[in-house]
Amino acid sequence: MTKVLVFIITFLLLSSCNSVREISRENPKPYVILKLDDLWCKDEIVHPGWEEVVEFLNNQKVKGTIGLIGDSLEKDNPTYFEWIKKREQEGYEIWNHGFCHCRIKENGTEIREFRGKKMEEQSESIFRTQKLAKEKLGITLHTFGAPYNSTDEHTALALEENPDLKVWLFKETKTKTNKFLLNRIPDVNIEYPVHQPDFEKFKIGYEQYKSEPILIIQGHPRSWVEDKNRLENFKKIILFLKKEGVIFTTPYEYFLAHK
Ligand SMILES: [Zn+2]
Repeated sequence: MTKVLVFIITFLLLSSCNSVREISRENPKPYVILKLDDLWCKDEIVHPGWEEVVEFLNNQKVKGTIGLIGDSLEKDNPTYFEWIKKREQEGYEIWNHGFCHCRIKENGTEIREFRGKKMEEQSESIFRTQKLAKEKLGITLHTFGAPYNSTDEHTALALEENPDLKVWLFKETKTKTNKFLLNRIPDVNIEYPVHQPDFEKFKIGYEQYKSEPILIIQGHPRSWVEDKNRLENFKKIILFLKKEGVIFTTPYEYFLAHK
């Protein structure tokens, strides 16, 4: 009798374990973040590259994320501000992509906004963009991603001074941070090389890394209207990912669900 009981209990335990595994197998597809960089305003209008990309994504019911450059908010421009607010309401995450996106040469060395500058300067850059977004758009930015993805050991300290920021896209140094990190897999991207979406190359990278929990793929919509092929390749990537059944998310949304 005891043996029979042990057998039944063992059987039940094993089968329940199996069912747990079945559940986790139900969604083997990765989360995908569309890291779209460089929202600026030129001649008081949103660049046509952004307009086209957003129109396509909205038609496909796919949400992206928008890397905002802070100095574009300095001059009052209600049309531009409304455009950003609308995207936020649609589910796009607007994130801090620095204040000036600038780089200078000093004694032959290139200094970037978050590489080679003092901690105080870096903190000020981050803070100014946070402040302008709050004041002019009513949006609290929760994610930071540096221009050129270039940072140094001061960036981690500068970010600590900006507690609203929870997520850091593409940290490259070993400096400690309390921010939630989302890292890049260089082989999976929208653009190969930068500014040129390439569906075939994306697909090779995707097939290799599709078992990763999350893929953050980067692109620059302003560059995609220069050549019809670029936008077409981006669209193919999105349609392919939809067919694959990936879950499109944003950095802060992913952070809230996985912190
Ligand atoms: Zn950029």
